[in-house]
Amino acid sequence: MSDAPTVLIMGPPGAGKGTQAAHLRDHYHLRHVATGDLLRDAVAHDTPLGQTARTYMDAGNLVPDDIIIAMLRELVESLGDEEGVLLDGYPRTVAQAEALDGLLGELERHVNVVLDIRVPAEVLVHRISGRWVCRTCQTPYNVTSHPPKVAGKCDLDGGELFQREDDAESAVRHRLDVYEAQTAPVSDYYLHRDVLATIDGNQPAEAVQAALDAAMHAAV
Ligand code: AMP
Repeated sequence: MSDAPTVLIMGPPGAGKGTQAAHLRDHYHLRHVATGDLLRDAVAHDTPLGQTARTYMDAGNLVPDDIIIAMLRELVESLGDEEGVLLDGYPRTVAQAEALDGLLGELERHVNVVLDIRVPAEVLVHRISGRWVCRTCQTPYNVTSHPPKVAGKCDLDGGELFQREDDAESAVRHRLDVYEAQTAPVSDYYLHRDVLATIDGNQPAEAVQAALDAAMHAAV
């Protein structure tokens, strides 16, 4: 039985997962795995996975479960015994959550805590239209709430900041609908397993971080 924690962070697009995941990764020494980043990387390198995933991603739809679960299997199997992990953007469907339980079970691990960040839809649409991401290290910025020190450049590595195509307003609204229909039921799945921590994401980032830390201390 591994004591290494398995932590999930979930929340709709724009909930602040990227910023908070970076804190959790550093503070709790977790390997941060964001399925969206893995997929964007595959698209950028034009791999077979990237070629398949691209059409779904551009349309703001979920990539089919079998593709995502195969990707996750590889990842979970590569985890060291004592390696804590933070899964970000996975699971997005109940089928993915069930598959994760199976994969973790094979390693005698289980989900320790699910950090579920909640933010009203209108707040999200407003936030996302100001979002810029570093092309090199994926660090997110926001023109109003978290601007880079130098416009258009990443504070950490000077990489170029860009706006994701799926962050356009109509695409955002569609992604929020997809989240509500397919991913919100994942919260209930974990609620029934007593590992769900609901976090109010409609407050300053420091307050969200404090709430996440409290949930982490209670769980791991
Ligand atoms: P994200 O960066 O987490 O917002 O993910 C960007 C896009 O990648 C999503 O809109 C989906 O098309 C795809 N994606 C990421 N994670 C998953 C997942 N677990 N299941 C299905 N599609 C995913």
